[in-house]
Amino acid sequence: MLPLWKSIARQTFTKLESLADFLELNQDQRAQLVLSPSFPLKVPLRLAQKMAKGTLDDPIIRQFLPLQQEMKPHANFLADPVCDVRFQVQDKLLQKYAGRVLITCTGACAMHCRYCFRQNFAYAAKSGFSDEIAWIAQQADIHEVILSGGDPLSLDDALLSPLLQGLGTLCHIKKIRFHTRFPIGIPERIDVNFLALIKAIPQQVYFVIHCNHARELDADILERLRALQSIGCVLLNQAVLLKGVNDNVGALKELCEVLANHGILPYYLHQLDRIQGGEHFEVDVACGRLLIEQISRELPGYCVPKYVQEIAGEPNKTPLM
Ligand code: SF4
Repeated sequence: MLPLWKSIARQTFTKLESLADFLELNQDQRAQLVLSPSFPLKVPLRLAQKMAKGTLDDPIIRQFLPLQQEMKPHANFLADPVCDVRFQVQDKLLQKYAGRVLITCTGACAMHCRYCFRQNFAYAAKSGFSDEIAWIAQQADIHEVILSGGDPLSLDDALLSPLLQGLGTLCHIKKIRFHTRFPIGIPERIDVNFLALIKAIPQQVYFVIHCNHARELDADILERLRALQSIGCVLLNQAVLLKGVNDNVGALKELCEVLANHGILPYYLHQLDRIQGGEHFEVDVACGRLLIEQISRELPGYCVPKYVQEIAGEPNKTPLM
């Protein structure tokens, strides 16, 4: 039988017209959208239900609906702004920083975020992870494996299980880190079977979720995340600073507070990676610094994310403060 999360995933908007109807957009608003964008529309019902009706001026809508502004070419906004290809050591492995390696587990996500820096990435078609596990097994100086994508929680348990078991046999790997936005769209993914898989991992497990605005969260999502914490996982959040989404003190402060109130530490606030078609999301670094200064005056230090930028070739994320 299909797991519940998979049947819920079927209730995802992939046709712009259906979503525009659902959001009660008028003709002028529809004309501001791209009917068939190269990075296809994908919005789970749960997120669509959190979008305001009859407007495009909404922090959740802005993240997921393709605006005509995406079509505007800009010389400094690139198909691969962080040069992922340069750091590919295997089809599904990227190594950018010392001691860590990242597996691009899948190209699939629960939702398609318009600002995604990996939206043009050529994901490997082969299934399974035996080559990647064999490669990592030979690298004694790697101590952490990051499961990313796409979204690793898009993988069925049947694919995830051998990957986690394989990594579990490697004594030099001390930490497994998931980078995921899946629970924001389909929290039901964190079900009893998934929790059992995670509980069986011998290493310390981190989940870095991706949430940009407090309105993306709800009681069900926080309860599923709590279930991960209850089995010993450490939860962190990374957000991207996005114009019209979270580029104001109120939104940023509320996001950090809600996360911290639920034991999820605001880890990073990323400066936008300059992805082709993403110019309308960019916030000046000077504004970003001001925002961090302002929320720092109102929140304890552990609730304030590190404001960083990824610069290809640097040995770590570059702090902007
Ligand atoms: S969930 Fe993450 S990987 Fe997937 S489209 Fe959004 S930002 Fe990109």
